[in-house]
Amino acid sequence: MSFFIEEPDAYREFFFGQAKKENRHKNFSIMKTRRIFIKNTLGSIAALTFATEGFSCITKSGKKKDKLGVALVGLGYYSTDLLAPALQQTEHCYLAGIVTGSPEKAKRWQEQYKIPEKNYYDYASFDKIANNPDIDIVYIVLPPSMHKEYVIRAANAGKHVWCEKPMAMTVEECQAMIDACNKNKVKLSIGYRLHHEPNTQRIIQLRKEKKYGAIKTVSAIAGYVDNRTNHWKQTKALGGGVTYDMGVYPLNATRYVTGEEPVAVTAIASTTRPEIYKEVEETINFTLEFPGGTIATCESSFGKNMNRLEVTCDKGWYNMEPFSGYSGQNGKTSDGIILNTVIPNQQAKQMDDDALAILNNKPVIVPGEEGLKDIRVVEAIYKSVKEKERVTI
Ligand code: NAD
Repeated sequence: MSFFIEEPDAYREFFFGQAKKENRHKNFSIMKTRRIFIKNTLGSIAALTFATEGFSCITKSGKKKDKLGVALVGLGYYSTDLLAPALQQTEHCYLAGIVTGSPEKAKRWQEQYKIPEKNYYDYASFDKIANNPDIDIVYIVLPPSMHKEYVIRAANAGKHVWCEKPMAMTVEECQAMIDACNKNKVKLSIGYRLHHEPNTQRIIQLRKEKKYGAIKTVSAIAGYVDNRTNHWKQTKALGGGVTYDMGVYPLNATRYVTGEEPVAVTAIASTTRPEIYKEVEETINFTLEFPGGTIATCESSFGKNMNRLEVTCDKGWYNMEPFSGYSGQNGKTSDGIILNTVIPNQQAKQMDDDALAILNNKPVIVPGEEGLKDIRVVEAIYKSVKEKERVTI
């Protein structure tokens, strides 16, 4: 068993089976005591205030709302196993609503999480969320091809938006999402949870401190064995392919490690199981060239369990293994520093950081522009694969 993967199967059972059982029992005493101050009668006034006055949310009692309501859109694996349980641990936001195309799923979630009927939407009724003062944030957890449409609809409904990685399929889509959020004066965060993770933050800090001199090489690999068939991850039109899914972890790591944008890429895609990966790549290998001279070699695969980041510098080195798991980040440096700070829940930390940014009207840690920068490189990776040559970015 690998503890490196981001996805279901053995990992989910091993790491989350027990936590899930415990959560079911203690679940919603928290919800029972929760008080949501904005009432329906003042909803539209509050929503207007929220959208136009620097994100302060004035309640009926005249107090600022201190805990924001989140609606999850798409109740698949990540929402079910990670985000909803994490939202039981957050301090500054809570699970207030759901958007799903499945009435059966909705019923289960409503019972489990005490979600009132008025906070349940399907994809057709979704836009009515604009009139719901319980919902401050809409979190898009759908296949990547659907991110653009739902981010824009959420922004047009006047809600702050969180969107899962990869941000979208193309730079053009990413830009349209950013523009819609700016136009509606709502904040957009991309779900790159590692930017909220303390050991990853320390790695970023090492570069800022220039502790080990210039960075010469970065190696980043992330993969897991996915034996599922007929999933959207194997369907090109839905945003499948390992580059979009896992490839953004090594790619994003090379960018936060160096603090630079790559200027060229050379990539090769391959597949060992064409019966499963018929129209998208199972494995991607890519080499990035950075303006400061750093060379980064990366690999992502749906056919291998691997997860490691290595950085070599003029005056030392550091690494982390795993670097992109939900927990267990474990790194060391050439002068003996150990990077293994433990936090209770990565997703809860991410959502609390993002909720606080909204409550305090501060910049978010991972804005849409950061997601767009990765997709710009993903486009270049696919171009390099297609043209079988080095592509400048
Ligand atoms: P999933 O397939 O388990 O869930 C997707 C959900 O979308 C399902 O509930 C499905 O019913 C719904 N859906 C609506 N329309 C659909 C359509 N036309 N085709 C397929 N599904 C449709 O996927 P997931 O693993 O939960 O991933 C969802 C998003 O979350 C993706 O963007 C993925 O990259 C991201 N994710 C992020 C992390 C992370 O660590 N940040 C981890 C896992 C997944």
